[in-house]
Amino acid sequence: MSKEAIKNALSTVKYPGFSRDIVSFGLVRSIDFDSGNAVIGISVTTSDHSVAAEIRDGVETALKALDEVESVEVNVSLSPAKKPDATGDSPSGVGAGIPGVKHVIAVASGKGGVGKSTFSSNLACALAKQLSAEGKRVGLLDCDIYGPSIPLMMGVGGRPEIEDESIIPLENHGIKIMSMGFLIDDDTPVVWRGPMIQKTINQFINNVKWGELEIIVVDLPPGTGDAQLSLAQTIPLRGAVVVTTPQLAATQVAKRGARMLEKTNVPIIGVAENMSYLEGPDGSKQHIFGQGGGEKTATDLKVEFLGQIPLDPGIREAGDNGAPIAVANPESSSSESFHAIAAKLIERIGN
Ligand code: ADP
Repeated sequence: MSKEAIKNALSTVKYPGFSRDIVSFGLVRSIDFDSGNAVIGISVTTSDHSVAAEIRDGVETALKALDEVESVEVNVSLSPAKKPDATGDSPSGVGAGIPGVKHVIAVASGKGGVGKSTFSSNLACALAKQLSAEGKRVGLLDCDIYGPSIPLMMGVGGRPEIEDESIIPLENHGIKIMSMGFLIDDDTPVVWRGPMIQKTINQFINNVKWGELEIIVVDLPPGTGDAQLSLAQTIPLRGAVVVTTPQLAATQVAKRGARMLEKTNVPIIGVAENMSYLEGPDGSKQHIFGQGGGEKTATDLKVEFLGQIPLDPGIREAGDNGAPIAVANPESSSSESFHAIAAKLIERIGN
């Protein structure tokens, strides 16, 4: 029996909780087959033993269904995603994963349209402003293949330059930016984009000249899909911030998304609530999308509630104009709410 036939059978085994299979994620390290005995080596970046057990069961079931296979041995090696130590410094002075980059933080949401990209771009700007005092720099990586909106919100576009076979990130507002939007044509059908995720994320990690950065903020696609798993497998994420609106419907999906991330060994740093209230000229607050969802999500996930961002036409306008409110109108109360969350994150990462 050929290794190819075994590989085909293995490609029916999904990573627990995901739609993507273990072969296309590159988790299968070795396939040996000798007189009816199949020996499979699997390597997974997680410390969650239940994930390993599920993969092992899946592999056994898939291979035992093949006539020529009499016995199956599955060797799963678990490598926990490497996290920087308590001071944020790894022995080499940088977080393992992207050379020169200390921390990678993902911004995730269960649902689309909750303001994840708006949050990511403002967070990156607020972090950059606060860290610039110490001479530290920030990057923003847009992995939202389905609707890359970071280029518009950050006011950058065009094709990045290539130097020594590496991609040079575009730059604006003092932030180094890479986006799927720079690499794919607007008319690439969405169904073709899914399979490109792993390859493109690998490129973003290995072939982009990021330079020395304190933090890269990653704007994940909404939901609980393959990009999250690809990222968790490819680079050690320091953690993820979950963005939700106050609505019950949004918080339920946000929690599901967060639990999926935890499955891939990505710690949830905290929850931020967007579109929390509309502030009247007299300072009164109107809770258009309900109340308390962000805090409840944080409590349910047993993580910190990082704060609220108001529903503010100024936030939308600033994003549409390519200069997030955190830089365009730093004195505004909306900008201050992003800065407060950025300050909390800097403190949390330091600890
Ligand atoms: P997502 O990335 O979750 O799909 P976006 O960041 O693209 O969401 O936001 C969706 C829309 O809502 C955008 O038009 C954006 O300008 C707007 N928006 C997001 N957050 C706010 C806010 N706090 N106040 C006003 N408009 C917002």
